[in-house]
Parts: sequence; C-alpha cells; structure tokens
Amino acid sequence: HVVVIAIDGPSGSGKSSVSKAVAARLGLAYLDTGAMYRAATLWCVGRGTDLADEAAVAHAVRVMPLVSGLDPDAPTVHLDGRDVSEAIRTTEVSTAVSQVATNLEVRAELRRRQRRTIEAEAAADGFSGGRGIVAEGRDITTVVAPDADVRVLLTASEEARLRRRSLEVHGAADESAVEATRDQVLRRDRDDATVSQFEVAADGVVTVDSSDLDFDQTVDAVLAVVTQ
Ligand code: C5P
Repeated sequence: HVVVIAIDGPSGSGKSSVSKAVAARLGLAYLDTGAMYRAATLWCVGRGTDLADEAAVAHAVRVMPLVSGLDPDAPTVHLDGRDVSEAIRTTEVSTAVSQVATNLEVRAELRRRQRRTIEAEAAADGFSGGRGIVAEGRDITTVVAPDADVRVLLTASEEARLRRRSLEVHGAADESAVEATRDQVLRRDRDDATVSQFEVAADGVVTVDSSDLDFDQTVDAVLAVVTQ
C-alpha cells in the first residue's frame, strides 16, 4: 500500500526533523521542499543572477541541475554534482530565499519537480521501493499534493518556534539568543506570507500543535494521524 504524507508548517515548527523521523519509522522516502528553494537561491547567487530580475531567476531555476537525495536518515542536496546540503543552510541563503520563493515561475518549476518526485516514489523503484514518501514544506498539503493520503499542518506558538530556531542556530535558547533569532524568523514569516497561510488549516488537513510537545511526542502525534 502506497502512502503519500504531506506535512506543512512554518519555520521552527519542527517540521523537518519530525517529517524525517516519521519517514524513517515508516520506511518511506523523504522530500524537503524547503531545501529545493534554498538550493535554487544558492544556484542563482552562485551564477551571479540578480535576484530582483524575475525572468533571469526563473530561467536559472529551470536549468538548475538539482538532485534531492530521499533517504530520511541522510537527506542530501546536490547541485551540478556538488553536495550543497550544508551550503544551503547559511544565513545568507536564509535571508535571500523568500525573494526566490515568491517568484511564481520558480514555484511552478519546483512544484513540477516535486510532483514528479512524489509520483515516482509512489509508483516504483525509488528510495522507498515504491512504498511512498513524506513530503514537507509550505504548500504541500494545499497545492503540491492536495490528494495525499495524509495531510498534516504542524504548528507551534511563536515563542516555541523562536526557542527551537534559536537552539538550532545559536545552540542556546536563553533570552539574548532568542532575541537574536526573533528578527530573522519573524521577517522570513512576513516575507513568506504570500506563499504560506498557516492560520487556518485547509479542508481535510489535520492540525498538530507542537507547542507543548517534545520531539518524540510530536512524532507520535503525527504517526497517530497516519494510522487513524
Ligand atoms: O523549510 P525551510 O525553512 O528550509 O524553507 C526555506 C524557504 O523556502 C521558506 O522560507 C520559503 O520561502 C520557501 N519554501 C516555499 N515553499 C515550500 C517550502 C519552502 O516557498 N514548499
């Protein structure tokens, strides 16, 4: 039985680590679509493409040689054969990514690639041997895979999201580290507002609020949605 699981959520909701754990537990492939937008940003910056030039950015992304590794225990991103899994996580990329992600032609191109990956995993001899895939991002439950078997919106309060992001970026969640994270996270939320609406879950999407859950409890809550 093939399973397609779509998970959306804002940054700091724990979406990536939770999605990876769910995929690993169920023996499914894992696709991080945020990593694709990050790779597109790194690709444009590396070619010297002016991010404000929408047509140039759209063209660059259409010819982008991107390969997403779908193993949930070791997901990778390769650009033109080069492993950029870490290079896409820099502050420079995080700051610029919304500008690329709001380019409608970029979204059309990446959504096409995401659907192709999901269909291939659901069909045959990909990473999961055709068992299925967990795809995670901002518009997976609504636009990329609205007919997925399971659709989850992973939310968390602003304070919980800032605390988690701060731990990720600064390795600490004391007051000053959280404050240093606040501007970056809230600005990206604002910049992403046109591509992702998280206030209300779309019809048929189950909301899991992780504010008061630890990591294992959040994974269990998502697995409970899958088996319900
Ligand atoms: O999930 P992550 O924080 O790595 O995503 C990076 C950026 O990619 C987001 O801030 C957003 O601009 C963009 N994104 C998107 N649609 C998705 C996934 C990510 O626009 N499905």
